[in-house]
Amino acid sequence: MLKLDFHPSGRHFLNVPGPSPVPARILNAISLPPIDHRGPEFGQLGLKVLSDIKQIFKTKQPVIIYSASGTGAWEAALVNTLSPGDQVLMYETGQFAVLWKNLAVRLGFKVEFMGLSGAKEWRYGVDAAKIEARLKADTGHQIKAVCVVHNETATGVISDMAAVRKAIDAAKHPALLMVDTVSGLASAEYRHDDWGIDVSISGSQKGMMLPPGLGFNALSAKAIEASKTAKSAKAFLAWDDIMEANKTGYWPTTPSVNLLYGLHEAIDMLMNEGLDNVFARHQRLASACRAAVAAWGLETQCQDPACYSPVVTAVVTPEGVDADALRKLILERYNLSLGTGLGKVKGRVFRIGHMGDCNALTLLAAISGCEMGMKAFGIKLKGSGVVAAQELLQ
Ligand SMILES: *Cc1c(COP(=O)(O)O)cnc(C)c1O
Repeated sequence: MLKLDFHPSGRHFLNVPGPSPVPARILNAISLPPIDHRGPEFGQLGLKVLSDIKQIFKTKQPVIIYSASGTGAWEAALVNTLSPGDQVLMYETGQFAVLWKNLAVRLGFKVEFMGLSGAKEWRYGVDAAKIEARLKADTGHQIKAVCVVHNETATGVISDMAAVRKAIDAAKHPALLMVDTVSGLASAEYRHDDWGIDVSISGSQKGMMLPPGLGFNALSAKAIEASKTAKSAKAFLAWDDIMEANKTGYWPTTPSVNLLYGLHEAIDMLMNEGLDNVFARHQRLASACRAAVAAWGLETQCQDPACYSPVVTAVVTPEGVDADALRKLILERYNLSLGTGLGKVKGRVFRIGHMGDCNALTLLAAISGCEMGMKAFGIKLKGSGVVAAQELLQ
């Protein structure tokens, strides 16, 4: 039975890899009364957030803000730039890549899905050389877009997007580069312009520290050009109407006014800390989390040290241990929410989210909950992950 009036004592530890914890400053900003979204004050807010969000993507080009989750922004990227039947090359890093692929198939695009198989499947980053070879073979330039996931939230694997850009350039191929950075943005280094991304896709509830409900598309001149001839059906998601209204700080439809208050506050917090400091903080927390996993004597799902995600660590449970039964015990005993294993790794991994508003002690609490839970579950641990993480963080 759903118990919506369930209020355990103390705080809840939200360590799923999205939604991430929302800081009080942002909650307070969101709690202000909505204003007229056609009035003069709103126009100022609109112009401010549309301009400031560019700093987060490191772009000088337009960023579209939707009232939608990341999935809406995925769909928007495809339908604005492509026509029905267009061929797209997508790369399977994990379940989020699979979900984006399924969405593209439903929308009527011809999807080619490449990736690693066997023991390497879902454990390594994007192999840019494979993309380059495939594009070189596409001499007729049938492939209209290359779609990759920057930070694969299902596996805790982050990939090198500059390398994918280089691969496309080396193949002298005109395909658009579309990147899902829903869980990477604002916690991991991201450079929309420098990396030559045509459409970056993101959302509000991960590194941006906001509740779910906003989706983002950062554009390039080439993507905007493609949108002028793309024939996919679209209305609510169409960039042209939104960009026209955005010129004066407004939207064609009612925007999520309160989430935009929150976005304004979130950007302020991120810029005050400094993006480089934010990224360094996440790298440090992630290495502490991995030190804990190693001390337990367990494996991370990610097998390539160059691709360890700074925002989520997927831990492989010992043979015979149902990761979801373990997560259930940890939630019930310690009020700590961990991410479930998705798709092909269901029941085999649990995920510790350390994205957005996370610090040494919130991470240590999560590691401690995992450690106590695993012991209670009867798992023989090699050593203490809490101690290992503390040593790294103190
Ligand atoms: C969370 C997430 C999404 C989008 O999911 P929504 O539930 O629609 O917000 C897409 N890609 C990645 C990598 C994600 O982590």
